[in-house]
Amino acid sequence: MLGLLIFLFLVPNYFCEDNTRNDIRPVPLINFPNSVKVEYTNFRNWAGETNIQTWIAYPESPDQILQLANWAKENSMKIRPCGLRHSWSRLVTEKGFDNVVLVDTTKHLNKMGIISSTPGNASFWAEAGLSMVSILEQLESSNLSLASVPTTGDVSIGGVVAVGGHGLGIPTANDKKPLGHTFGSISNLVIEFTAVVFDSTSKR
Ligand SMILES: Cc1cc2nc3c(=O)[nH]c(=O)nc-3n(C[C@H](O)[C@H](O)[C@H](O)COP(=O)(O)OP(=O)(O)OC[C@H]3O[C@@H](n4cnc5c(N)ncnc54)[C@H](O)[C@@H]3O)c2cc1C
Repeated sequence: MLGLLIFLFLVPNYFCEDNTRNDIRPVPLINFPNSVKVEYTNFRNWAGETNIQTWIAYPESPDQILQLANWAKENSMKIRPCGLRHSWSRLVTEKGFDNVVLVDTTKHLNKMGIISSTPGNASFWAEAGLSMVSILEQLESSNLSLASVPTTGDVSIGGVVAVGGHGLGIPTANDKKPLGHTFGSISNLVIEFTAVVFDSTSKR
């Protein structure tokens, strides 16, 4: 079985109907964690229909994402993950976007490792910001691959799994599905993932 472990963080996302906005002024980031890199900069999606100025943070570890989530909760802000910005719709930016810091996982959270390359029982782990093309390249160096992947490699594994992304390969009439592979959603391959979630007891 070719399994996939994803170090993914999940925070709520909402569909949106906002038009491109350039009128947003930077809200001050009060008490923002010193160790996390952040900048007020341009966010443009692949098709260019979203093109705004906004805060973007670049965590270097899962622990920094926790720090960001707790900071947002304590300071009436929101964080929202972004991958390689290939979504057609405005999943990342939405109406009432003013108090949001985007969390870009692609800059630093982009490592992976092979857990097992045993044929039929291979698995690897990957951080959420790693691109599909990097995953395929590194799998290839261990003589592994995925049966069906999205058309473009410039999408992050976190973004793909978050939206239920799928590969484009389909089995022909006489094809047998290779053991442990899928022709459906990439998430079918995930056997374990780590997520940032809200604990209603500690309120963090
Ligand atoms: C040219 C092109 C070809 C495409 N081909 C295919 C295809 O063959 N199959 C297919 O299924 N899709 C396809 N897509 C769509 C694309 O795969 C999805 O939009 C995918 O989500 C893009 O990943 P991303 O890294 O760009 O994510 P983004 O667009 O940056 O984010 C997408 C969503 O995922 C959320 N997200 C991102 N990272 C995380 C994370 N770590 N944790 C939780 N949520 C997260 C974001 O908040 C947002 O809601 C294509 C898009 C383009 C532009």
